[in-house]
Amino acid sequence: MDFSLTESERDLVNLCREFAQKEIAPRAPLAWDEARCPTDLLREMGALGLLGMLIPEQWGGIGMSTVGFVAAMEQIGLADQSVAAALQAHVTIGSLPLYLFGNDAQRERWLRPLAEGRALGAFGLTEPDAGSDARGIRTLAVRRDGGWLIHGQKAFFSNAGTDMSFGVTLLARTESDTEGEEREGSTFATFVVEKDTPGFTMGPKMRGIGWRGLDTRELFFEDVFVADDHLVGDPAMGLGQFLSTLEVGRISIAALSLSLTQAVLDMATEYAQQRVQFGQPISKFQAIQFKLADIATELEAARWLTYRAAYLRDIGEPFLKEASMAKLKASRVAVSAASEAVQIHGGIGYMLESPVARFYCDAKVLEIGEGTNEIQHVVIARTLGC
Ligand SMILES: Cc1cc2nc3c(=O)[nH]c(=O)nc-3n(C[C@H](O)[C@H](O)[C@H](O)COP(=O)(O)OP(=O)(O)OC[C@H]3O[C@@H](n4cnc5c(N)ncnc54)[C@H](O)[C@@H]3O)c2cc1C
Repeated sequence: MDFSLTESERDLVNLCREFAQKEIAPRAPLAWDEARCPTDLLREMGALGLLGMLIPEQWGGIGMSTVGFVAAMEQIGLADQSVAAALQAHVTIGSLPLYLFGNDAQRERWLRPLAEGRALGAFGLTEPDAGSDARGIRTLAVRRDGGWLIHGQKAFFSNAGTDMSFGVTLLARTESDTEGEEREGSTFATFVVEKDTPGFTMGPKMRGIGWRGLDTRELFFEDVFVADDHLVGDPAMGLGQFLSTLEVGRISIAALSLSLTQAVLDMATEYAQQRVQFGQPISKFQAIQFKLADIATELEAARWLTYRAAYLRDIGEPFLKEASMAKLKASRVAVSAASEAVQIHGGIGYMLESPVARFYCDAKVLEIGEGTNEIQHVVIARTLGC
């Protein structure tokens, strides 16, 4: 295993650290209160190349390794989890389907602006009646002269409704069975729907208990016509295509989890050294020391799993199981670490005025997004032969 970064990747990770601490972190409390996607920050990050981290230079990106991407996400997530969430959704599920499965014309038209940071990418699978059960989606794409007519509804669509969003990529069922009776025979395809396409509307931004800056909405498609050139990849292989990009999404959620755990560990350690009770800093109490030592140890274990999954992708080896294990472990560690870090802060840790409380609220979704942790168990168990 070799997790070392190239010189240019090290430079980029340092750039991320600097940008995150100077530009993102000071705005995090206000961004939380405003609950708005900070697209001005994302545009600045785009100018630095960060929105094209996993896309080769040929298509406007900077062609970073997955290991480098994880290291960069760790720095961004230390400052603000919402910004990191928008960035990771853009870089992984928002951009990769176009790069991996699109043709050159589609890459030029839609991927290049995403990779160059001029637009924000989004992908939607989830629907009101289908989340974990991806094959249960009902959004239907029916063949029409020269294109497809799309009808359906999507839930929890991230990055779709900002002033930087160009439209969306989505998964739709491509045969006439809408009731799910012939599920084995169903086929699924990926389509691009640009904003302002007639029949495409969206609901208001939803309010999560965390990731408050992330733009997440319901989307509606009422007989939306898209031309043939909006179909991305094989019309029968959309689900498999999406699931394969989701594997990278899981590594990036694991990276966000590492950054959250590191952030709350740093805050709790600093607070424990300053807070005096019974005549001494609370860090002198073994009960507090052991909590911090446990968080640090679990973080390191999660970090190794995450970097190994990223490394396997970089060397072209299968990484399905490892990505699920990394996401499962790292998100659990983050949720538990955030809870313990609040505990170490006592009452002030419960108040949204303190950053640790915001990270605590941001933690829970890490066990839900990009496949819940129960689904990660299912994936891992399957690889064991179950
Ligand atoms: C902030 C946020 C942003 C999101 N962004 C996007 C996005 O951009 N694009 C997108 O497509 N989706 C997005 N999602 C949706 C997310 O991926 C789903 O919420 C997630 O996959 C779970 O689906 P569900 O909510 O329908 O829950 P369900 O699938 O209904 O699951 C409910 C519960 O049942 C459990 N469960 C389900 N099946 C099984 C099983 N076989 N075995 C054991 N337990 C099971 C689940 O683990 C969960 O605990 C987002 C969600 C959130 C909260």
